[in-house]
Amino acid sequence: MLGQMQNWPLLVSRFLSHASAAHGHREIVTKLVEGGTHRCTWHDIERRSKQLAQALNRLGCKPGDRIATLAWNGHRHLEVWYGTSGSERVCHTLNPRLFVDQLIYIINHAEDSVLLFDTTFAPLVEKLSPHLPTVKHYIALCPRAHVPDIKVPGGVLCYEDMIAAENGDYTWPSFDENTASSLCYTSGTTGNPKGVLYSHRSTVLHTYGACMADTMGMTASSVILPVVPMFHANAWAIPYGAAAVGCKLVFNGPHFDAATLQQLIIDEGVTFTAAVPTVWLAMLQHLEATGTGLGNLQTVTIGGSAAPRIMIDTFQTKYGIKVGHAWGMTETSPLGTIGTLTPEILAMNKEVQLDAQCKQGRRIFGVDLKITGPDGKALPHDGIAFGNLKVRGPWVVARYFKGEGGDILDAEGWFDSGDVATMDPHGFLHITDRAKDVIKSGGEWISSIDIENAALAHPAVQEAAVIGVVHPKWDERPLLIIILKAGMSATKQNILDVVAPQVAKWWLPDDVAFVDELPHGATGKLNKMELRKQFANHVLSVS
Ligand code: AMP
Repeated sequence: MLGQMQNWPLLVSRFLSHASAAHGHREIVTKLVEGGTHRCTWHDIERRSKQLAQALNRLGCKPGDRIATLAWNGHRHLEVWYGTSGSERVCHTLNPRLFVDQLIYIINHAEDSVLLFDTTFAPLVEKLSPHLPTVKHYIALCPRAHVPDIKVPGGVLCYEDMIAAENGDYTWPSFDENTASSLCYTSGTTGNPKGVLYSHRSTVLHTYGACMADTMGMTASSVILPVVPMFHANAWAIPYGAAAVGCKLVFNGPHFDAATLQQLIIDEGVTFTAAVPTVWLAMLQHLEATGTGLGNLQTVTIGGSAAPRIMIDTFQTKYGIKVGHAWGMTETSPLGTIGTLTPEILAMNKEVQLDAQCKQGRRIFGVDLKITGPDGKALPHDGIAFGNLKVRGPWVVARYFKGEGGDILDAEGWFDSGDVATMDPHGFLHITDRAKDVIKSGGEWISSIDIENAALAHPAVQEAAVIGVVHPKWDERPLLIIILKAGMSATKQNILDVVAPQVAKWWLPDDVAFVDELPHGATGKLNKMELRKQFANHVLSVS
């Protein structure tokens, strides 16, 4: 027997129509690429997104066309998200931090037909354009006066002129909720990047999951600054969730320095923000150096890489800001788990609570998780057994765009995340490594992430990376690589003395190397493949 409720396709445009109808006057604030601060409302965003949909019709764009963006977070990028997906096109966010060759590969693989870009990226777009046969239109996200003077096929179109030429008298079309809404490529540290093609249905369900009180708890009273870029796994659903709850959104545009972010947080009354740990590392150093705070900020979600204990503790103890440590990946839309404490853990002491928060949290409704051993059998949730983390659910990838990589699900529909993790009896997931970064010493696994976090407890350590280097007896042993904070010093032994009490004895690194810089990928993660190359001939020695 079928239910008898209305068939209301779960479409991304619904978020915007709702925000405009129910919270139309709420503000969207943007630090503009061309300078100054721009203010508009959800009502304006809907009108202008519709104008963009009309402009894309005029250019001859068809349903299913991939429309690419090379843009920072801002009101125009938001309009492009909604204007493209809402009109049945696919919004393809490009990560401008990728190498030129990777961008060329991705744009050609996606067969993007339009490229909208912030003027920051004009030189990059000019360099890319001769290699992009499918791109028919280049649109600069700015007013006429700021359109860059670059040579691209067909010339550069002006976004604001195109919007101004349309009347916004447009009805969002209704179509199958399984239609593709957006496309995001994995950063591809091994092999070519692969496309994850989200559907309207997966995006709407993921957004419901993201908004729940125990996930990111977005409400109409929230003021949200998503520092996480809109090109990094959908900015963790914030631009959708903010419309669903109708809250004020604040965009930092091209500005990522701690002082500008702090000023925005204070001036705009930001209550919730989200970004990768490197952003918060710089912010905490800035706060420490200036003896200042973060205004009305109440919660920060940290994910993308492991949040160090000292970072979580400092936010909470010193600044009274609650941390939600989240795990996810492009392939999981991205939210998979978040570290909201349960009543059982809240009844325990602060150290136990902090231990739990250093893990990556518990699964969100809509995400099934398991960890499996080498034989594929599920491992116990004892917080000790390491295994491959597998996920499934309505917002987890089923296959990559154009079938790259073949069948990626097992017979029961599980997707292997490529992460190695433990699960404790309270259901807290702990990511110990990417499978390819695990250090295998004498047949046992050592977690590089745990050692990195332990090293960060040393006050002179700015950043830490651990890789396995070849060892004649144990196959591999951990090497700890450190960047020291400016003007501070420490010896190898000082650092190991801090690490030792925090990890198993046989996990203690065999050596410590000091460097000025560590290699990072396009989403800010440590590039350990590159590090392993750099230290391929390293001879272990502790002094
Ligand atoms: P991406 O698809 O670029 O967002 O990368 C996803 C990968 O980032 C995951 O598979 C993890 O390896 C890593 N990751 C994400 N969040 C965390 C976290 N909180 N702690 C440790 N690793 C994380």
